[in-house]
Amino acid sequence: MNLVEFGFVYVGLLGLFIFILLFGETPLFQGTPVSFVHWLITSGIWEGVWLVAGKICGNWGISALDKTQHACCERSNPLLQIAYLLILMVAYYLYEREFLSMLPFPGIPAWHRWTALASVTTCLAVFLGTSASDPGTVTKATLQRYSAMYQYDNVTCSRKVCDTCILLRPPRSKHCPACDRCVARFDHHCAWINSDVGLLNLRWFLLFLTCNLLLCIYGLCLGVSIVGGALDRHQVRDMAFWDPSQDKWVVVGHQFRPLLEWALKMYSTGVTIMVFLGIAALMMTCFLGYHLMLVARGMTTYETFKRRLWQEEATYAAEVEAADRYGMDDMRSVHDHSSGKTSGWVWWTWRRKRRKLVSIPPHLYSKGLMSNFWEVLFPLVPRSKLT
Ligand SMILES: [Zn+2]
Ligand SMILES: [Zn+2]
Repeated sequence: MNLVEFGFVYVGLLGLFIFILLFGETPLFQGTPVSFVHWLITSGIWEGVWLVAGKICGNWGISALDKTQHACCERSNPLLQIAYLLILMVAYYLYEREFLSMLPFPGIPAWHRWTALASVTTCLAVFLGTSASDPGTVTKATLQRYSAMYQYDNVTCSRKVCDTCILLRPPRSKHCPACDRCVARFDHHCAWINSDVGLLNLRWFLLFLTCNLLLCIYGLCLGVSIVGGALDRHQVRDMAFWDPSQDKWVVVGHQFRPLLEWALKMYSTGVTIMVFLGIAALMMTCFLGYHLMLVARGMTTYETFKRRLWQEEATYAAEVEAADRYGMDDMRSVHDHSSGKTSGWVWWTWRRKRRKLVSIPPHLYSKGLMSNFWEVLFPLVPRSKLT
């Protein structure tokens, strides 16, 4: 296998891995090898590790692993924050050494070294700002303000006292067990910033995603241009290579494969960083797009989860009631069967039909596209002033 084939296989396998991780759990893949591999990655391997630790070290090993898992995954910790900083610094250092130090090229001025540094510094500053920003912590001082902003919808939130904070939870707030606090308009706990995303810092979080996406796109475009400049400088297109299939020397010209092979051989680190930037840009686009869609609909990540859960539970209750009332054992048995080991497509079709059994109450918090975005950008301006 040559370098180009290895590169394609590597990128393909990495893409497949990310796809399985993101979508392996969806009902569509239930009972298929995709869901099995997802289980293996997310649970199977870890269950194996626990089993081996138990066999070798006994209860002590299991208890040590439990404590480590609790500290790393369920409590607030800076592991991913450190990982982000390391990735940013190391990637910039290697990119500078491999690509930027070659500047200038015709059409690519040397000031890109400074704009690249400024872009990385901006991302770093936004990252620190997002990590340090207050998501909208509910305290005695802020309780009244946050409580007056929305009303309870009794689907995603209801009038309830938080057992830990001993405060009445304002509508749309939630207690984060990792950070041990109630957060207004709670969106999600983000391990990358080791904090929550909520009412006050969603705008910071969106800026953080946007900056990183732009940095990846800039790095990709600049990298492609620099490799192009290096190809010209070394007059690679005028070179010839031996093609065994044609049994003769062939001029490289604009053939993609020999050009890529040359780039991989000369700048393997830089090209690897570009592959990483490409994958990161793709994931960032999906993530940012999803959050912008939520903002446009006036919804939070937590609310989408809660509403889905509400509908699942209400549908199941309606099925059970209908089955009891009409003696239709089928309904319940089909449901039990469908949540079991049936194939993805059957489950999918059945799920679509089931949704029609119960209609979920309308979402109360959307006030129109402009108003929804305004609320995120200027969270402390009262709603009444927007309309
Ligand atoms: Zn949290
Ligand atoms: Zn709380």
